Amino acid sequence: MANDQFGKKVQTQSDKEIFFISDYTDLDIKRVVISDAIILDYSNREGCASFIRQVRSSFVESIYLVPIFILSISEEIDAYIASLTDGTIHSLQEETFMGVYQGIDQRIKQLQTTDNNDQEIKIQNKIIRFHYTRQRRMKAIISSSSHIGYEFPLLSLHFKNANTEEKFGILDKMVGKELFRLRYEDIVHLCNNCYSGFLNYREVCPKCQSSDLYTENLIHHFVCAHVAPESDYITNDQMICPKCNRLLRHIGVDYDKPSLIYTCNSCGHHFQDSVMQALCMNCQTIHNVDSLLSRKIYNYELTALGEEAAIGGLVPSQKTESEMPGFIGFSTFNIFLKYEIERIKNSGKTSSAGSLSLRSPAALNASMGIKYTLVINEIAEFLKNATLATDILTFINNNTFLIISPDNDKFRLESLLNNIRHSIQKLIDSNVDDANIVVKIKAENIDSSKNHNDLINSLLTNIGAP
Ligand SMILES: [Zn+2]
Ligand SMILES: [Zn+2]
Ligand SMILES: [Zn+2]
Repeated sequence: MANDQFGKKVQTQSDKEIFFISDYTDLDIKRVVISDAIILDYSNREGCASFIRQVRSSFVESIYLVPIFILSISEEIDAYIASLTDGTIHSLQEETFMGVYQGIDQRIKQLQTTDNNDQEIKIQNKIIRFHYTRQRRMKAIISSSSHIGYEFPLLSLHFKNANTEEKFGILDKMVGKELFRLRYEDIVHLCNNCYSGFLNYREVCPKCQSSDLYTENLIHHFVCAHVAPESDYITNDQMICPKCNRLLRHIGVDYDKPSLIYTCNSCGHHFQDSVMQALCMNCQTIHNVDSLLSRKIYNYELTALGEEAAIGGLVPSQKTESEMPGFIGFSTFNIFLKYEIERIKNSGKTSSAGSLSLRSPAALNASMGIKYTLVINEIAEFLKNATLATDILTFINNNTFLIISPDNDKFRLESLLNNIRHSIQKLIDSNVDDANIVVKIKAENIDSSKNHNDLINSLLTNIGAP
């Protein structure tokens, strides 16, 4: 029976569809769609881990976002697996998971339907939506099975272990879109041929590159200033100077050990400065350590813009930019904003920045389809005509317009946006039945107290009541 194949239903007061699974054979992943949450028995580690991987690597939102808890009485959960779940519980009692479940469930309900076929955008969407609904950072997990020693599990599910460049590429793009702010974790050194972090560092002979070296102390005899390897001084358990034949008794009084001397067992060369090399254990290339790649590893925390994007859903960026003449891309907008902040610092003038955002209930703009796009285009046209030629406009996340208004203070921009808001609200209400779309605005002065990131975050959060 199909029911029996998907674990046992857990009794809760709210009668949610929450399943406890301990037998992982022949599980039908599609059953996840109708589950509100899943609890997995960790006594079968392998089965549990592979089921979690299967769920989280899906591109179906109602599958990959499902809250998953692990039931483990005493065993410690592998960090990689733990990062793909929503916590470990020690019993099936409702109160052990209900709080976390409700938080996630509430945020999942805010997400608007998105539709695009771009594989990379799908991965980015998934990463921001997963971390938004969990309200947590994407953390780098130490893993000896990772090609570089660190793993971002949700991202890695979509790439082969060794595709480090592609993984970093996606992360860097998301940071470029200002979806994440970086929290430093570590620095890794990687093979510049294959990106592996599995390197064997060793000192080698500068003449023949052999790592078969013998090291000993160098002895400096104070009285006669003779310097030679320790073995040259040793005669019948005593230390006798080979130059002046005197007995060396006390270190610091008769002699000292100024450094080490290397002898190559392969070619006999003596030297004081060895060369540090790294052998890549993956592709067997030998590197000088200064030619290794170094890459900083970060934890990724959603910005306000990232949270907005998670709710609204990402769309391929070139689309929105080319569809709206008079509007610039968000990254260019950011550059203008940075310049404007600098200009204000030097000129002492006042400029402002503002946002105008459409808030619609989840799934509404999906059901509106083409009509939503038409409304957005009309609003864009309207905004362009109502603002000054010197104002700079961008449109992000399929729902928010941002504006830089040079030499206009916050109050003037606010009243301008307010007028626009009224007109737009009328436009929406007369064009869309039961639209339920609310237009919100906010304006801020541009001054030296806020950098461009803070300013944008502020424009996107707690957008004032209509
Ligand atoms: Zn040698
Ligand atoms: Zn001597
Ligand atoms: Zn390599």
